[in-house]
Formats: sequence, structure tokens, C-alpha cells
Amino acid sequence: MYAQRVQDATSDTILHIEGLTVSFDGFKALNDLDFFMDVGELRVIIGPNGAGKTTLLDTITGRVRPTEGRVFFNGVSDVATLSENAIVNLGIGRKFQTPTIYVNHTVFENLALSLPKDKGVIRTIMSMLGSHDEDRIAEIMNTIGLADKGDDPAGLLSHGEKQWLEIGMLIAQDPQLLLLDEPVAGMTDYETQGTVDLIHSLADAHSILVIEHDMEFVEQIARKVTVLHEG
Ligand code: ADP
Ligand code: MG
Repeated sequence: MYAQRVQDATSDTILHIEGLTVSFDGFKALNDLDFFMDVGELRVIIGPNGAGKTTLLDTITGRVRPTEGRVFFNGVSDVATLSENAIVNLGIGRKFQTPTIYVNHTVFENLALSLPKDKGVIRTIMSMLGSHDEDRIAEIMNTIGLADKGDDPAGLLSHGEKQWLEIGMLIAQDPQLLLLDEPVAGMTDYETQGTVDLIHSLADAHSILVIEHDMEFVEQIARKVTVLHEG
């Protein structure tokens, strides 16, 4: 199905969700949800386990289809009818709770593989990297606090560092909207603080939607909070 362009009316709104209901065998994980986010906004959604937070991200990213309702992204309507790949290509990047990094490759290589270009084997990608790409990767390593670990195998990173690498891999794809599902789960206090700083530094150039139930983290990060309760 083709996305339809909507003119101007939503130009300051990056994400607009209208009347979203998601039923699993009659159980409503989300029930007639309306939600807006502005371009450049950093928003946190909190809510208890089972409130439908992950289902919301699943719907925005095309993994779960709405039973009713629509998702508008950046003037494109009915995003939720597109394929997961098409949604990524529109500029929505999502971080899962478990990182999907290549543990046998270095931090640098993981980021190189995430740059938006033709997919191929790693040797090809590495030999195709221009100096502009290398600068971009160095910049991302700085941002995610792994500037000294470019040559380390990703599998040797700490739990928190792996999460930062995955955020870096998302950034490499240059998304406009970043979706982060419980980004500090399992982190030490030190790693949690690093993640708060990282998210704040990314918030200048990206719209960010963070899902979280750790209240302490929410207080540190939040500018605007939405509470999701029973869908
Ligand atoms: P949260 O992320 O807020 O903890 P979820 O979105 O994961 O909540 O889940 C909301 C509710 O929907 C839960 O009751 C969960 O069991 C149910 N649910 C989520 N995904 C599925 C699925 N694929 N099939 C059936 N039920 C699901
Ligand atoms: Mg969840």
C-alpha cells in the first residue's frame, strides 16, 4: 500500500497517532490511544508492565498491525501499513531491549556496517569506506563514549557499552525519530548516568521517544512525560 502525503497541517508534528487500538485475541493491549510528538521533542512514556508500551513501538515500526487507528510520521499517513524496512527508510530507528550487535566485530566495524549504504560482507564495506565515513564513525564513537574502544571486539564491551554501541548504530543510519525501549534496563548507576547524558546530547538533532519504567531515570531525563495505563 502506498503512503499518502499530507500537506503542511502536521509540519511541526513528527509523530501523530490517532485512535490506535491493538487487540491480541480480543485483549486490547492499546485502546483508542491518541498521541502527538513535535519535531525535536524528547518524550518519555512511562507505565507499568503490560501497559502496552512495547506494543506501541511495535506498531510504530510495523511489527504489529493496528486493529484500529492510524500512525502519521512526518507527513506520511498510515505508516503502520508499510513494511518494517520501509518504515526504517522513512527515518524511524528503534533500539530493542536486547542489543543486536555483531559481537565478533570491532566497535568501529559495527558502526561501519550500520552506515546507510549497500549491504555486503564486512571486507567489502571496510575497503569501501571513504575518509568522510571514517570521520563520521569517529564522531559517533565520541558521542557514545567509546572513542578509545574502536578496535575492541564488541563482545568484550560491558553491558552498558553494548547498549551505547547499539544506539550509535542507530545514529549511523541518520534517523529523524529514535525509539528507545527501556534503554537503562540492567545498567549500573554509572552507565545509567552516561545514558542520560547520551540521550540529552542526541536530543538536539533528533526527535526521541523513550519508554521507561525506572522512575529515577525518568526524573533525570524527562522534559515531557506521557503516562500509559492499561492501553
Ligand atoms: P509493556 O511494554 O508496557 O510492558 P507490552 O506492550 O509488552 O507492555 O504488552 C501489553 C500487553 O499485551 C501484555 O498483556 C502482553 O502480554 C500483551 N501482548 C503483547 N504482545 C503480544 C502478542 N504478540 N500476543 C499476545 N499478547 C501480547
Ligand atoms: Mg515493554
